[in-house]
Amino acid sequence: MVGTCDERCRLLKMPADHAIAEFGVSHLVLYDDQTFPGYCLLILREHATELFHLTPAFRTALLEDVCRAAEALQRVFRPTKVNYAVLGNQSPHLHWHLVPRRADDPAWPRPVWSHPHEKQVPPSARVRELVRAIRDALR
Ligand SMILES: [Zn+2]
Repeated sequence: MVGTCDERCRLLKMPADHAIAEFGVSHLVLYDDQTFPGYCLLILREHATELFHLTPAFRTALLEDVCRAAEALQRVFRPTKVNYAVLGNQSPHLHWHLVPRRADDPAWPRPVWSHPHEKQVPPSARVRELVRAIRDALR
């Protein structure tokens, strides 16, 4: 891996009850803002900032994790399309935004970032329900 975590990596830290699953080289968490239901982050366990820094085998393992998570989101939320995004402008630690999108969501068909909005953090009972549903779909 290249480099070590710094304070910007901590921006990816979600509340403990948002943890969904540990995968081969990453972990999946429910994003705190649930304006788009099922929005998750898949975060590389080790620090790296660019996909091209990863070995081919590691990259393959990461893509497996991405697909496993996205398939579960598809099962639970029945989206029109799963969106996949790797930006890293605010937190360079490699992570994927996995967003189940619906043709009737407020930003469709534009990227979720094109829709300025107040963060919608669900109550903990709803977080538990979403986390459980996604976990069940991973089995
Ligand atoms: Zn990091």
